[in-house]
Amino acid sequence: MRPLIAGNWKMNGTGEALPRIAALAESLKAEPARADVLICAPFTLVSRAVATVAGRIPIGGQDCHPLPSGAFTGDISAEMLQDAGAVSVIVGHSERRQYHHETDELVAAKAEAAWRAGLTAIICIGETEAQRDAGHADKVVRRQIMASVPPAARPANTAIAYEPIWAIGTGRTPSLADIAAMHAVIRNTVENRCGGEGRGIRLLYGGSVNPANARDILSLPDVDGALVGGASLKAEDFLAIIHAVPRDL
Ligand code: PEP
Repeated sequence: MRPLIAGNWKMNGTGEALPRIAALAESLKAEPARADVLICAPFTLVSRAVATVAGRIPIGGQDCHPLPSGAFTGDISAEMLQDAGAVSVIVGHSERRQYHHETDELVAAKAEAAWRAGLTAIICIGETEAQRDAGHADKVVRRQIMASVPPAARPANTAIAYEPIWAIGTGRTPSLADIAAMHAVIRNTVENRCGGEGRGIRLLYGGSVNPANARDILSLPDVDGALVGGASLKAEDFLAIIHAVPRDL
């Protein structure tokens, strides 16, 4: 399985950031990645980012509406993202679940919308700190998978990002043992949900991945890549994370 290192720029970046993407593409030409690389840019940058990298780095979006079009002011459909040149979209990020009250059912509908438009869905799941402290992390994550990953998820159309909410943007990460244990739970649950095909779906870890911890995290079993927020905004750090993919993955 070829790992995936995806950057989530969140609500950061204007046209001034495009040279950063161009520089990243140049660096990857000089030293090719041992992973697939993706940048999930703000909507306003998607088509310009696509033009800037001219197919060298795939570009994704960060959210989509479940429907292809309609009276939904301010929303963007998966078809619109595809039209702008995106190949992928994040759905169910914890910031969407928290600030926009997105439910598992809505997240599943968004994943299906992504597929309908020919995009890969990166479906995010992860527990809060209180849920982990109460010993409920496994149960919460299993429930999220059963409700927000449609059974038709396949390796070619889906990646699942495990992002413990308390680790996002905080500089704190679970122990390596905890990440490995959770990814084993996720693999097992995804296989239950999607059948044998679930074995090939990439499971990304996300939450304060940085150049210093990336190699250890990416070396864990059933960690098939990373979803990187803050560190993806600095080309140097993102490159270091990309090149931290172990040779023998
Ligand atoms: C994210 O928002 O998906 C994320 C993982 O953020 P960070 O890497 O900054 O913790």
